[in-house]
Amino acid sequence: MALRTICIWPDPALKEIAKPVEQVTEETRALVRDLFDTMYHEKGVGLAATQLAVPQRVLVIDLDPKGEATKDQAYADELADWGFTGPVALINPKFLEADGKIDFEEGCLSVPGVTETVQRKGHVVVEAQNEKGELFKVDAYGLFAVALQHENDHLDGKVFVDYLSKLKRDVIRHKMERLKQDRDGEASESVA
Ligand SMILES: [Zn+2]
Repeated sequence: MALRTICIWPDPALKEIAKPVEQVTEETRALVRDLFDTMYHEKGVGLAATQLAVPQRVLVIDLDPKGEATKDQAYADELADWGFTGPVALINPKFLEADGKIDFEEGCLSVPGVTETVQRKGHVVVEAQNEKGELFKVDAYGLFAVALQHENDHLDGKVFVDYLSKLKRDVIRHKMERLKQDRDGEASESVA
């Protein structure tokens, strides 16, 4: 298990446009494992390689990280309606279809403690490669469609705060600066 550090917005690494993975190798699979490990550790439901300052087109999603669907039939039904069948890694995702509209309150591990409503497409069809390099398709609705668009945005150097007003973004920027100062303060204390 390897945990990696998640870049906090507005880290310039988050603006980088990720490059396609030319060949799925053991290194790609290690990256996928680290993405899952880091995402679960930070209690997120999605993570893109860009957030680890690795500019490669790889993302992971798990809408049921605590396994609640096994105890909660309503949530299991909802996941099924969204087309979500379990933890999934997408390498070189490509959107084939996108339609409908959905407003969803989003959060991001790169913008901790902040949630804002963003409008996305309500249905997407995405083709990607799996950890073996094989092509597969996902047909996603609801939160699954939102997560795919949110994570794919990261691969294009975009963060959900880019959809907000400048005023809101400035407030969030201040919040992140304070958070960073607190974290840097803790780090230097532990060194001393
Ligand atoms: Zn994010």
